[in-house]
Amino acid sequence: MFGVWAPGEEVAKLTFYGLYALQHRGQEAAGIAVTDGSQIVVFKDLGLVSQVFDEQVLSSLRGHLAIGHTRYSTTGSTTWENAQPTFRTTQVGSGLALGHNGNLVNTADLLAHAREAGALGNAGANATSDSDLVCALLAAEAADAGLEQAALRLLPTLRGAFSLVFCDESTLYAARDPQGVRPLCLGRLERGWVVASETAALDIVGASFVREVEPGELIAIDEDGLRSSRFAAPEPKGCVFEYVYLARPDTTIAGRSVHAARVEIGRRLAEEHPAEADLVIPVPESGTPAAIGFAQASGIPYGQGLVKNSYVGRTFIEPSQTIRQLGIRLKLNPLREVIRGKRLVVVDDSIVRGNTQRALVRMLREAGAIEVHVRIASPPVRWPCFYGIDFASRAELVANGLDVDGIRRSIGADSLGYVSLDGLIAASEQPRTRLCSACFDGNYPIPLPDEAKMGKFLLEGIEKGVAGAAEPVLLNGYGAEDAVRRP
Ligand code: SF4
Repeated sequence: MFGVWAPGEEVAKLTFYGLYALQHRGQEAAGIAVTDGSQIVVFKDLGLVSQVFDEQVLSSLRGHLAIGHTRYSTTGSTTWENAQPTFRTTQVGSGLALGHNGNLVNTADLLAHAREAGALGNAGANATSDSDLVCALLAAEAADAGLEQAALRLLPTLRGAFSLVFCDESTLYAARDPQGVRPLCLGRLERGWVVASETAALDIVGASFVREVEPGELIAIDEDGLRSSRFAAPEPKGCVFEYVYLARPDTTIAGRSVHAARVEIGRRLAEEHPAEADLVIPVPESGTPAAIGFAQASGIPYGQGLVKNSYVGRTFIEPSQTIRQLGIRLKLNPLREVIRGKRLVVVDDSIVRGNTQRALVRMLREAGAIEVHVRIASPPVRWPCFYGIDFASRAELVANGLDVDGIRRSIGADSLGYVSLDGLIAASEQPRTRLCSACFDGNYPIPLPDEAKMGKFLLEGIEKGVAGAAEPVLLNGYGAEDAVRRP
């Protein structure tokens, strides 16, 4: 997610490069909304940033203010309508555009409120994401109060994880939930301001880091400068998984370099779960810093044993059954001459379902490894995330039904070790009280509603009359079978 207010700059191109730097946070769809002060134009589509935008499109997006988004879905299907920025017309101006990183947990209640307020009926109503619901509610509220006051009224009613960027024709807004689950930072350009999900995106567009958007803070930026308001008291609970996997290594969150945290996790992993081996190899990319830390602490040489194809994303080319069977090889290929005859330590960031690691261990043995010791830079994922990561249902999590030795046998490794939660938290250098670690320990810092009021396809399910809905609503549906798939 990215936003820029910079008169005189090519804001759409800056946003494109910002999104390019943030591609890892969402690969299903990309979009940019730009305004020249009189109207908002939104261009979005399914696909990677580089697939959605070209020179011609970017040159046509002119203005002084832009926001952009790359989508990773946690509520709502992967459809064009659910791509962001989502857009709603308003009575006070031409409209408002919004991008959201995170996932709300009171979507069902908000939907009921939106219906009461008659907020769902205007353009964009085919979307089925919690983000579009927020956009619709903001647009409705803005009719009375203007957008800034509307945000100050609405934001305290949202529950869950939300880092937001939104804009009308004149003003760029950024807001972060009171827990600050997902990162959001503020940067300065010579002639303007930037907000971005990660500090790495500031670097890439030449902006200097100013500070993080505080949990519970709303920032507004326009020709009068920058205004900051509090809509809720901060109760920081940053996502600890950002340090393990989600964020780029060249990003800093809450003052801690993600790369340094990952190296430290690897060091602690080596202390907690040593191995007799000849070589430490990472599962690239997110396992790399932890593998370096493991090698440093253990004294075992570090090497590259797997080559990653970085360009495997959503290609929209449906793989045939034969190609599908290649599975992991589409992403990773072993360097046989490095691996052959070695006792390997393989460092990966996490195990969710276990399928990847099972295929990986088999592939390394086929490539000639004589022992494979798997080390994981996070504790076992035992609980689903409801705050912006679509891990799997609890039943699908391999650590849900098995102990560590059971998982070792399931993936076929000679030994398996996970870093402890204490070790992970210490490596993040954050106080435990300021972190969310619910997927590891089940302690959800933001209360969850009944199961019937949650689920990725909640809004589609409600429309179909399932998932506990009382009656149909305007939002489109995509199949009742989807609706029963809950985290
Ligand atoms: S449940 Fe896990 S992935 Fe989700 S916000 Fe908490 S720490 Fe992050």
